Amino acid sequence: MTSRTETELVPVLDSTNVDLWRAIKRRDYRYDEAFVFGVRSTGIYCRPSCPARTPRRNQVAFFLTPRLAERAGYRACKRCLPNDKGFATLQRTRIEETCSFINQNLDRRLGLAELGKNANLSPFYFQRLFKRIVGLTPRQYVEGVRLRCAKMSMSNGDSVRSAIYRAGRSSTSWLYTNPYAKLGMRPSAYRSKGKSMHIRYSIHNCRLGKLLVAGTDKGVCAVSLGDSESILEASLRTEYSSARIVRTDTSKLGSWISEILAYLEGREVVPLDALPLDIRATSFEYKVWRELQAIPYGSTCSYSDIARRISRPKSARAVANACAKNPVPLVVPCHRVVRSDGSLGGYGFGVERKTSLIQREEENLKRAKAGKANEDRVFS
Ligand SMILES: [Zn+2]
Repeated sequence: MTSRTETELVPVLDSTNVDLWRAIKRRDYRYDEAFVFGVRSTGIYCRPSCPARTPRRNQVAFFLTPRLAERAGYRACKRCLPNDKGFATLQRTRIEETCSFINQNLDRRLGLAELGKNANLSPFYFQRLFKRIVGLTPRQYVEGVRLRCAKMSMSNGDSVRSAIYRAGRSSTSWLYTNPYAKLGMRPSAYRSKGKSMHIRYSIHNCRLGKLLVAGTDKGVCAVSLGDSESILEASLRTEYSSARIVRTDTSKLGSWISEILAYLEGREVVPLDALPLDIRATSFEYKVWRELQAIPYGSTCSYSDIARRISRPKSARAVANACAKNPVPLVVPCHRVVRSDGSLGGYGFGVERKTSLIQREEENLKRAKAGKANEDRVFS
């Protein structure tokens, strides 16, 4: 009975709709909740993001819901499971399993084909899904884990050579070719890095997913956003591998967290630049991060703007790298930096979150200005 109402009230999706077709061609997962499509030649229907081969345009029919597709005689695809509400969870589990597979198999070559096969996905689709869920490509993730593993064994006192061996690499050049870019300091400096940090962290739900905030007695040392608590925790623990880390709900962190949550959730302008920070960086990174904090709430600038402001006009790329290494996003607002052509550029927590942060700031600022104008009118 409900399905009857559905067909009557719901407009039939126009089979010439260009946007929907484009979503299928791009395998655009953002449309996954919006519609499904049936393929006449096979009698199967799929989600827009289905990894299977793209059908011919003239074979495709669009449906608003899986039920409508089934009523038109189509069967659900076994690869993208369009009628399965647990699909998103299943995909997440596959990717989380891949991450732990990577963590345990650093000593071998970890190619895209093998990783994809493990996750039961085509290499292409696997790569995109991984990027979407983890925020890094599989390759970047593998490199990152290797690097953290090397960092960890160096800060435990291992020699550089054996640290590299432990990380599944045989040549020291891997670490030395560009040690500054990778470690932020020389390998030898990393080895002697203090083990005395005492870090507390806690995790909260917010409109952009899970928010992790970590800090020492001196200030905030890590902020991250994501979908999975375990991934957020793991990356904190590997980034600060030699520190003492405990999860907490109270302590000094409390007021810092409520400020960050007020910034994220609130309808008012909450600048975070007064929060104390306890972060380590190269002098170049410090310069860049200070400039980021100087970008006013609600506005954006480009990587080359920042490069000019720190008198390194040719270093836009290095500026982008420093932004990517910012350990305290939101507080050091790297989301306010966009490309010179106005496009958004990347963001460690995903471009959608970046868009949302920028939009919310613009709205809040507009509202604050309008409120101010009203007050002026009343009192003048
Ligand atoms: Zn499918």
